[in-house]
Amino acid sequence: MTERRRVPPTHLSGHAPPGSALSPRTAFARLPRLVRALVEYAPLDAWEQDTVTLSPALQRVRRTARAFAERHLAPVALSVDVRPHGPPGEPGAEAMEVLRAAAREGLLDDLLPRPFGSAAPRLLAEPLYFPAALKTEELAAVDGGLMLLLSAHALGVAPLLLAGDLGALRRFVLPAFRACARGEPQLLAFAITEPAAGSDVEDGHGAATARPGTTATRAPGGWRLSGRKCFISGGDLAVGVVVFAALAGEDMRSWTAFYVPKGAVGFRVTRTEKKLGMRASSAAELEFDDVFVSDEHVLGGLRNGWALNRAVLNMSRIPVAAMGVGFARAATDAAIEFCCRTTLGGRALVDYQDVQLELAGMLADTAAARAMVWAAASRRQALQREASAAKFHCTDTALSVCTRAMDLLGNHALLHHERVEKIYRDARLTQIFEGTNELNRLSVIEDLQEQLLATMRAPSKGPTP
Ligand SMILES: Cc1cc2nc3c(=O)[nH]c(=O)nc-3n(C[C@H](O)[C@H](O)[C@H](O)COP(=O)(O)OP(=O)(O)OC[C@H]3O[C@@H](n4cnc5c(N)ncnc54)[C@H](O)[C@@H]3O)c2cc1C
Repeated sequence: MTERRRVPPTHLSGHAPPGSALSPRTAFARLPRLVRALVEYAPLDAWEQDTVTLSPALQRVRRTARAFAERHLAPVALSVDVRPHGPPGEPGAEAMEVLRAAAREGLLDDLLPRPFGSAAPRLLAEPLYFPAALKTEELAAVDGGLMLLLSAHALGVAPLLLAGDLGALRRFVLPAFRACARGEPQLLAFAITEPAAGSDVEDGHGAATARPGTTATRAPGGWRLSGRKCFISGGDLAVGVVVFAALAGEDMRSWTAFYVPKGAVGFRVTRTEKKLGMRASSAAELEFDDVFVSDEHVLGGLRNGWALNRAVLNMSRIPVAAMGVGFARAATDAAIEFCCRTTLGGRALVDYQDVQLELAGMLADTAAARAMVWAAASRRQALQREASAAKFHCTDTALSVCTRAMDLLGNHALLHHERVEKIYRDARLTQIFEGTNELNRLSVIEDLQEQLLATMRAPSKGPTP
């Protein structure tokens, strides 16, 4: 049983006291300036020190997102998590206020540069998904539910941008962005998942045998959509949903993306799920009962939906990996804080070296996960195997770090106000959405398939065992 008491620390077990001749900080101060310029010893914020490696424009994205999260997410993170499950389309007053603040402060229209959106024009020189990865990590580090409420909108915008159709951009994206700039959040959502088709149809193998549940039938001047989509983040709040449907009588190769506006006749939100974590973000079931959309609502061309979906996922899995980093960070911070303020046998927990070893491992695993995200995010062209590897590795790391944090906190880990159990619940969802982690592992191999086949065909370089 642990007790909590503030013990004024002089030094931690196993370390020379700060300020003593043998402490590295004191010793480093005596080195020539040239050496100090090469080898730094400065006790910086563990999560902040990487910021200097970013361009000034990306540093700004990071600082802005962090300030936003501290100001708007932190005060309500715990209360929105335990708010009773409300009817679809009613996220609650606190979440609505966060959405309005995000709209006002340019967090909902930042996938386009000014004057079309809110992103600084300098960010055009940066890889497309780096700002999203930085922003997502900062939001996730403070609250997973509100983070997803905001991030799912970017997922809805992505296929509209990647479809490369200026008309669709003008008709569907810019009006939503202009409303956001006025402080009226207008969200978009992305709908691929169906009751009988999730990540299992996200690879070619699964898609080859899948029977599409949502279909589009030709009608004069457009298409009639029928079917259901499920687990659509923010689908009950969105002013428009990008819906992937197969053409009637055809298989998944005919998948096509359609923009379906809220209010289209026959389009209905049937329910939102009561779920384990990220409760401030809704997962909606959507029903399409002979919904008519005109030809102008086809995004990226008929039968290009399959490719468009894969392109979106190859990018969006990078911010999802960044969610893992944010959760690992938050769990590590909570564990450090707890171990510093909790004593066992008269000593602070952090004074025990096995606790120090655990915390050091959590810090290192989180930093390594971030390095993986940043490497994937800094590519100009998203690479499937890197995005998928970052997604499964970083979200698995988040769970592993959360588990260790829970072990350190003991029974306190189960208390809502300590936040760790909430981070754990929120993080668990990231192993499932955007393709399960198993599927993402298979995506890495899928990407390497031609190379692996070539290796199999190549003459052996040595004796076969
Ligand atoms: C909080 C949340 C938000 C979401 N938001 C959205 C959203 O906004 N839009 C959207 O379209 N969807 C969304 N989803 C759905 C999500 O993307 C799917 O739930 C996810 O891809 C998993 O699909 P599934 O649930 O159908 O599981 P399945 O794909 O059916 O998987 C079931 C099991 O089979 C395994 N499996 C699947 N394929 C293979 C294979 N080829 N080989 C071996 N094993 C395999 C899986 O790993 C898993 O263990 C969301 C889900 C959640 C939980």
